[in-house]
Amino acid sequence: MLNQNYEPLMVCNARRALVMLLGERAEVVEPSDGQVRSVRSAVRLPSVVRIMRYIRRPRHEVRLTKQNVLRRDRHTCQYCGAANVPMTTDHIVPRSQGGEDSWDNLVCACTACNNAKGDRSLAQARMRLRRNPRRPHYVTFLQYSIRHPDNRWRPYLFLESA
Ligand SMILES: [Zn+2]
Repeated sequence: MLNQNYEPLMVCNARRALVMLLGERAEVVEPSDGQVRSVRSAVRLPSVVRIMRYIRRPRHEVRLTKQNVLRRDRHTCQYCGAANVPMTTDHIVPRSQGGEDSWDNLVCACTACNNAKGDRSLAQARMRLRRNPRRPHYVTFLQYSIRHPDNRWRPYLFLESA
């Protein structure tokens, strides 16, 4: 779903998009190949819709949750680079040393690195981050969180076509 100015807003399901279209609160930007059929008619499902009224949103509104930290870091351990193993979030500055829950103090870590680091700071544990964590911009976040974007979505997410 795109904002009135074509900025990407969110991924929603087809049902929600259809409800917006039927209520004339959105228009189709890119159709999909799918259809829904009722007894009398078939309606082509949209792939990209644009809402008619601009939604003003705060610049940084990605909610800080464990799942979103893992998404931001692409489910990759920020210490050893492992992927496809169980992940958790690690406090870079441990809570016992005053570390807070924040975008720049939480990273995705595999359980092995998380256990190895324990309750120590980076220097104490002699560990290094692969990159410095930051609060994600929501467009970047959308790019991260959509693992296999439909080709029709890519231009609206500022992604190269696959
Ligand atoms: Zn690791």
